[in-house]
Amino acid sequence: MAEWPRPASGSESPRYAGPATFFRLPLRRTGLDIALFGVPFDGATTLRPGARLGPRALREASTLIRPRHGRSGLAPFELCQVADAGDAPVRPFDVAATLAEVEGFVAGLCAGGTAPLMAGGDHLMSLPVLRGLRRAGAAPSPPWGMVHLDAHSDTAGSFLGARFTHGTPFRHAVEEGLLAPARVVQIGLRGGSYGPDDLAWAREAGITLLDMPAVERMGVAGVVAEARRVIGTGPCWVSLDLDVLDPAFAPGTGTPEWGGLTPRELLGILDGLYGAQVVGGDVVELSPPQDHAGITALAGATLLFELLCLIAAARAG
Ligand code: MN
Ligand code: MN
Repeated sequence: MAEWPRPASGSESPRYAGPATFFRLPLRRTGLDIALFGVPFDGATTLRPGARLGPRALREASTLIRPRHGRSGLAPFELCQVADAGDAPVRPFDVAATLAEVEGFVAGLCAGGTAPLMAGGDHLMSLPVLRGLRRAGAAPSPPWGMVHLDAHSDTAGSFLGARFTHGTPFRHAVEEGLLAPARVVQIGLRGGSYGPDDLAWAREAGITLLDMPAVERMGVAGVVAEARRVIGTGPCWVSLDLDVLDPAFAPGTGTPEWGGLTPRELLGILDGLYGAQVVGGDVVELSPPQDHAGITALAGATLLFELLCLIAAARAG
């Protein structure tokens, strides 16, 4: 039996010392309940690039996170064996090859029943992670539900002739049977559109769309109740695009939209997901070149820990 992986304690060595890994965890790929890994790829970005640098910035910012969760008291590293599994292989000049590489990496990583927690990278990278989890064959069978926190629906058909961009992953995921649209809720949608109804496909597919006016109207408790109703008791994914936060709290993303969630609203929504069967998740679209003072990196690292706690709680029952 391999040793139980534990984060280096800030009371034994200063948190700024040593090589940066996620939450100061050891690097390891086997014998894990939950594998944290990066996908340093932004070749599917439609506007400002930079998310390829996200995983490194998240590792660095994650040294600020202490191992016990503040509001719940949950200690994920005692409940589950968690480690930094490094980065998935990517091909910066080839989207299709990267999709295949990431899928293969996740299929191997999760073959023994390990839950994936991905740090992006642009949002297209959620697609090969879902594909890889299916190929691993150890998680409950898809289609899965999903709580998708994002300013954007990411269900477009194509951009500039390309079908695989960070604006299209979840249309593919639905069409490929990875997600059950009736069990998908998108929270925080906002911003302008290109046509009169850019969300028509998502709506007709049966996805529940909670845009910012809906969030305002329903409040956090109402959003939580609706999200729990939609995902039900079956297995679900949590996908968190950092642009769901208002740019005041997360300027370092590729396609920011004004008028988004506050951190307190977002934490309230995530707190409401305890008890859901969360099989994995991702935090994507951190773009360090657009960040200031590490504001967005801290948000991303904090939210990665929030998702880790949700997955650990689900696995621990
Ligand atoms: Mn977005
Ligand atoms: Mn997105």
